Amino acid sequence: MTMASNRRVVLLAGDGIGPEVANEARRVVEWLDHRRSVGFDLSEALIGGAAYEATGHPLPDATMEAAQGSDAVLLGAVGGPQWEALDFSLRPERAILGLRKQLDLFANLRPAKVFDALSDASSLKPEVLRGLDLMIIRELTGGIYFGEPRGVETLPDGTRRGVNTEVYTTPEIRRVGAVAFELARGRGGKVHSVEKANVMESGGLWREEIQELRDADFADVELHHMYADNCAMQLVRDPHQFDVVVTSNLFGDLLSDISAQLTGSLGMLPSASLGALGSGGSRAALYEPVHGSAPDIAGEGKANPIAMVLSLAMLLRHSLEQDADAELIERAVGNVLDSGLRTADILQPGLTPVSTGDMGRAICAELDRLAA
Ligand code: NAD
Repeated sequence: MTMASNRRVVLLAGDGIGPEVANEARRVVEWLDHRRSVGFDLSEALIGGAAYEATGHPLPDATMEAAQGSDAVLLGAVGGPQWEALDFSLRPERAILGLRKQLDLFANLRPAKVFDALSDASSLKPEVLRGLDLMIIRELTGGIYFGEPRGVETLPDGTRRGVNTEVYTTPEIRRVGAVAFELARGRGGKVHSVEKANVMESGGLWREEIQELRDADFADVELHHMYADNCAMQLVRDPHQFDVVVTSNLFGDLLSDISAQLTGSLGMLPSASLGALGSGGSRAALYEPVHGSAPDIAGEGKANPIAMVLSLAMLLRHSLEQDADAELIERAVGNVLDSGLRTADILQPGLTPVSTGDMGRAICAELDRLAA
């Protein structure tokens, strides 16, 4: 029987390894539903190539409506070589852009957390990474990827000129800044705001607005300003200096990929994209692994489901305020890795790889043990 207090989560499995990792997220949701205080109404809808095959569109109206009527959306991955020749508007990847746009998901959260058992999986020295836990917040709906004017024109002399424009307004900067300060309050209490105020007027505005917001509403949070080029260098030199980093769409695109490399494997990286706070205190939100549909291993049971399971943990923390359950899942993942269990992508010498399903079952068994 459905209880009124149940949380509505829409699971969009998608393509390639999406359905495989979604199976393991479903397994953990079912575990939570049976064992913890909050109940779930988990519904599923089509997205990406799978939706295109069934309905002729990668983001059908029914999926959009399900997303809009939910507390949060959990997405596997979309895309694959069989859809690459389609018109750009029908490509599976357009579905994610459509979701972001229609739900106005302006803050992209990418944690970089290094599990002890994997601290030697990165190309950086383990002593630089051990215990690392930082969060990059990228503004997702503004900046140079959307700014006008844009385009390519042919000049009278026959040469061409390409233009893109970095544009940010006070509300755009402040709403993503507020997400960063609020998150920092629940973490290490420190924000690095990153721009190029030395050479860009929009960067100067970013710096001023973030500083004013902090002084007015978040004086308890430590704020540092840093130029984006220095931040790129500091992330690989001494990543422990960071707690929360907040930056523009363009710089966030680059810096979040650098921070991803700190953790070693795509199969371990969750993400969240958050919208504005509504009047009832809730916000639209999409949670998904950073990785794609991995067609090279799809259907083989080799995919690492941990990025997806950690995306579910982010959903619990940022949309459902179930921090204890989120921590439980993260602890279970850490313990399973400590026990030597590995999927192929994070394999270490002397260990044998396990399947996607085995990893998911092991995480649930560890949840059982921790919750006993
Ligand atoms: P990818 O992330 O799918 O794969 C890159 C490499 O990492 C592959 O070798 C893959 O096997 C491996 N990998 C990825 N996730 C893994 C996991 N969970 N476990 C083990 N190994 C994993 O990126 P790609 O190959 O550039 O793109 C493949 C398809 O995915 C394309 O169609 C692309 O457009 C799409 N894509 C979708 C998303 C998304 O859904 N958000 C993101 C990126 C790419």
